Amino acid sequence: MTTSSASGSGVSRRTVLLGCLAGGASALATGASALEMSPVKVSKDSVHYVLTAQGDHRCGVCKLFVAPSSCIAVSGDIGRDCGCRIWLPKVA
Ligand code: SF4
Repeated sequence: MTTSSASGSGVSRRTVLLGCLAGGASALATGASALEMSPVKVSKDSVHYVLTAQGDHRCGVCKLFVAPSSCIAVSGDIGRDCGCRIWLPKVA
C-alpha cells in the first residue's frame, strides 16, 4: 500500500483511520481505552498542522479531536482553533 495521498502530506486518511480502527479493536479486546492503545499517531508536520485552520475545518470541530487538547491521530498538544489535512467532520 502506498503512503502517498492526494494532499501530498505522505500520510493518507486511510492509513490514519485504519490505524485508529486497529487500536479500537485492540482496546475492546483488552478493555483498555482506544486512546491508550492507538498504534498510530503521526507528527504534526506530516499532516500539515497549522495554528490557524482554514475555514471551519478547526480541530475543535474535528471527529478526531479529544478535549481539552489532544487528537486521536496526531501527536502533541492540539489547539481547538488549529487544523490539519486529515480533518474529519463530526457526525451529529
Ligand atoms: S484537524 Fe482533526 S485530525 Fe487534524 S490535528 Fe486537529 S483534531 Fe487532529
